[in-house]
Parts: sequence; C-alpha cells; structure tokens
Amino acid sequence: MSRTHNCGELKLGNLGEIVTLCGWVQKSRNLGGMTFVDLRDRYGITQLAFNMEKNSNLCANARCLGREYVIEIIGEVVERENKNNLIPTGEIEIEVAEFTILNIAKTPPFTIEDDTDGGEEIRMKYRYLDIRRNPIKENLMLRAKISSETRKYLDEQGFCEVETPYLIKSTQEGARDFIVPSRMNENQFYALPQSPQTFKQLLMVAGMDKYYQIVKCFRDEDLRADRQPEFTQIDCEMSFVNQEDILNTFEGLTKHLLKTIKGVELENFPRISYDDAIKTYGSDKPDIRFDMNFIEMNDVCKNKGVGIFDDAELVIAINVKGCANYTRKQLDSLSNFVKTPQVGANGLIYCKYNQDGSSKSSVDKFFDENARIKWAEKAECDKGDLLLIMAGKANNTRKSLGILRLHLAEELGLRNPEVFSAVWVLDFPLLEWDEETQIYHAMHHPFTAPKPEDIEKLNDSPSTVRANAYDLVLNGNEIGGGSIRIHNKDLQQLMFKNLGFSAEEAEKQFGFLMNAFEYGAPPHGGIALGFDRLCAILGGQESIRDFIAFPKNNAGRDVMIDSPSNIDNNQLKELNISLKN
Ligand code: ASP
Repeated sequence: MSRTHNCGELKLGNLGEIVTLCGWVQKSRNLGGMTFVDLRDRYGITQLAFNMEKNSNLCANARCLGREYVIEIIGEVVERENKNNLIPTGEIEIEVAEFTILNIAKTPPFTIEDDTDGGEEIRMKYRYLDIRRNPIKENLMLRAKISSETRKYLDEQGFCEVETPYLIKSTQEGARDFIVPSRMNENQFYALPQSPQTFKQLLMVAGMDKYYQIVKCFRDEDLRADRQPEFTQIDCEMSFVNQEDILNTFEGLTKHLLKTIKGVELENFPRISYDDAIKTYGSDKPDIRFDMNFIEMNDVCKNKGVGIFDDAELVIAINVKGCANYTRKQLDSLSNFVKTPQVGANGLIYCKYNQDGSSKSSVDKFFDENARIKWAEKAECDKGDLLLIMAGKANNTRKSLGILRLHLAEELGLRNPEVFSAVWVLDFPLLEWDEETQIYHAMHHPFTAPKPEDIEKLNDSPSTVRANAYDLVLNGNEIGGGSIRIHNKDLQQLMFKNLGFSAEEAEKQFGFLMNAFEYGAPPHGGIALGFDRLCAILGGQESIRDFIAFPKNNAGRDVMIDSPSNIDNNQLKELNISLKN
C-alpha cells in the first residue's frame, strides 16, 4: 500500500516523519505565500501546506487542485502555527514535497459539508457523494458497529447464523410479494421473502436450535412515510423455549446494544398487555419516556345532561403537568390539530388549574367549579396543570388522544432522542377482523400460536383469542415483534381455516411447513428486530433513510441507478412476458 497513514491519525507525536497520504480535496485556500489544502478520507481531515518560497512550482500546481480531486502526497509532518482543536489532527500539518493527481473531479452538484446545500432528490441521485459527508458516513459506520455487536452477542449466546434463500414461493402471508419470473420454468414465478419466517421454523424442525440472520426482507406495499420496499431484520428463532426465554434473550440483546453503542445501561423492561397499552396510551407502541397516561373520566363527566359527554362511549383525559399557562392561541392550535384528518377527533376540551387555585374550562357553561374539582381529583391535577379531555367512540378517541399525547410531548421536549426507554407489549389478539374483506387476518402472522388457555375459543369467538405474541417497543417505535409458533399440524390447519383458507389452499401454499410438523417439530418461537429503525433510533434520528447506503425514494425508486426500469424485448420474450401497451 502506498499510504503510510490515513487522514485522521497524525498528531504531534509524528513530527518530523515523512508520510504518504491519499484522499480527496475538501477545500483549498490561497494566502499569497502559502496554499493550504484540507485533505479528506473516511478517517478525517489533514491540512496540507504548500510553501511558495520553498517550492514555487509545486505551490502553483497545488493552486489548480479543484474540490474533490483525488490526490496522493508525500511530505513531512510539522507543527501548525494556528492550531485547530476541533479536529484530532489539528495540531499538525504536512509540508508537502510532492503530489500526484490520481483523478480529477467535476465540481460536485452540492457541497460535501456536514450541512449541505443539496436537497433530498439530488443527494440520492449522487448518493456516492452524499456518503462522503460526515453525517451519512457516520451513520453507515454506526450501522456496521450495531451489526457487529449484534453478531457478537448472539454468537456468544450460542446462536448459529444461517442464510435462507431469497428466491422463494409466493404465499398469502401478510403483505404483497415482490415477484421474480423464472426463465427456466416457463410461466412460473419466484417471490422475494417478506421475511424468512417459514425457513427459520423449518430450521428448528431441522434441529438447528438457535438461529439468527441479519437479512434483507421485501414487501411490495404502498410506501407510507419512512418505509422501504427492501429492509433489513435481525431475524431469530429458538427451540424448546417459552415466551419468557425469548423476552429475556432479546431484552439482553437490546441492553447489550444500548450499552456498547450508547453507553446507556437500561433497567429491566416493563411489560404491558396490548389491551392496557391501548387503554393507557392509545397505542400498541407507547412512548413511555414520559407520563401523560390516559385517565378514564366517564364517571365524573357523563350523565350530567351535557351532550358531548353523554353521547360519548368514552371520556378520557390527559394531565399535562405545568401547562395551565398555555395561551388561548396555544389551546386553539391544539384544538385545530386534533381536528386534522390525521388525528380525526371532533374536538378538545380543556380545563386549566391556575396557580392561584382558580380553574377555568372550555365548558364552564355546563360545568361549575365543583365539577372541575372532581375532575382534578380524578386526574390528579395540581395547581398549574392543564387537563385535556376527549370524548367519543372508544377506539377512535383513544387513538386520537394517543396522537395528541405524542404531539404535546414533542412540543414540550419530552421526546429526547438521547433518552432511551424500552417496553414489551404482550398478549396481542390472535386475529383481527377486516371489515372490508369480511374475514379475519392474523394480527402477527398465521404461524403464531394462540395462548393454550384460549384455543377452545377459536371455534366460537375467534376475536377474543389472545396470541403468544410480543412486540418490543423502543422510544415509541416498534423495533421488534415475534411469537411462540404453532408446531402441530392440526392446530396450524385450524388456524388457516380461521383465516379463510380452504383445506386445499392451505395445503398448496403451506403444505411444506405442515408436513414438516409431522416429522418431529420441536416447540419453538422467535422474533425479528427492524434493523434499519434500530440504527436510526440509536443514531438519534427519526428517518431510516440516511442509515441505509442506497435507499429508495417514496415512490420505491432508486434515482441513482434509475430503477425500476424497462427491460429489453429479448429478455421479455425469454421470460414469456408480454407488456400492456
Ligand atoms: N417474521 C416476523 C416478521 O417479519 C417476525 C417473527 O415472528 O419472528 O414480522
């Protein structure tokens, strides 16, 4: 290798050494007698100095170096006059004796700086330039570290990494499959895996005992904000375990990552049932970094002859601590917010408990001081607190208040990305009724086991059956989900029947799995963590896109390689595909 060092490592201890460095020209400054060039590589920036007096030719040539030129230099490490203590190499510079231009560069379409002037679209088109910027480069390095720490932990726990195929069979498992035509098998198609679910279960039947894989998954869904059609999971499965074993193992992984990546020691994760999460936070992925738990107010609000409450199925409130001083304008803005389609509420009622002991609500016409005091007792409001109340249909009202709770927390700075709080959500319903198609869907997936004590309800009241399924929630994001699986053919058949599959369809699509269950399938269960999201949260950011080297845009396109794209007629013919004109 021609390089003796990288651009991030030379310090005063190297004074006098003759070194060879390679990198990109970040910027250059001509100051008459001297020219300074910042040379950049993945490791950092080192200042190069060219002296007009000592070597006028060289210095003149250095003045022709454009931004992002790729160069190699040889020179001596010298102490800098004006030290820069913001960078590790800031005490030295290289007095250059010779340099070679390895490649010239066009002027980049946006500045390669931490704060760039490039918009999203242009950054994605020239992603290779975008990755030269520190924030993106650091995200990718963080991602690599998280994946290496994940492997370290799981290897130590005895997990074996096994790769499963990407060209598999299309099944109705949840989302829509991406389809790949097979040239060698005319008119037949592979599907890309939505997850390695059935394969990891077959690995358990195969006796692999503890499996993991950091694996790409593919789902052809309409892209909601911050979803990618291909994404990465930490996918795991274990045999001869119960739910408790899995929770402990992956709580351990999460703690290990928080500790090694962020230096944060997490307490044992609280656990909450799905029902309680919905009742307390209006969400099955509650952010528990802050309180504002829901308080049910039916008994103190209803049956007082006031329509908004009397007509409502549910009246709930949150106590926003210390916010009685919210202005009219702030309250109006909250009230407008809850009426947006995204929140979908019909209104918001407030009651301020002022510091002087007085109180004032937006429904003073109907409720007197005594009523307001009762509310305060119920919701544990002190002087200075603001009570926000919503009323309506139970599910909708909980959902709306849940969104308002997050919105307020955001406004109040309670969602600090450097504070971490994890929670397990347990006891999900097994099935979910779909009004549109009038059939049940598996809430997690069709392979999830019902709680043994609920199995008999599968025939008569399927919607009340709870699953041995769990989600791991970090800072209000679902970062993982899994379940104990069905490992018995009869139960799996019953499950497919409940999901509206005929016996033939079930056999056709999943016969391979049910047959395997007849050859000694161990009890097993597992989980998958969303790796991109985990990286973003540990990186303190909302969006996953900048934690993926080459992400797709909201329309599922890669604008750099311009994909998806047309293919030529010969290819189409070979695949027996004719296009619609
Ligand atoms: N395969 C599931 C998923 O992708 C995770 C699991 O149940 O292990 O959500």
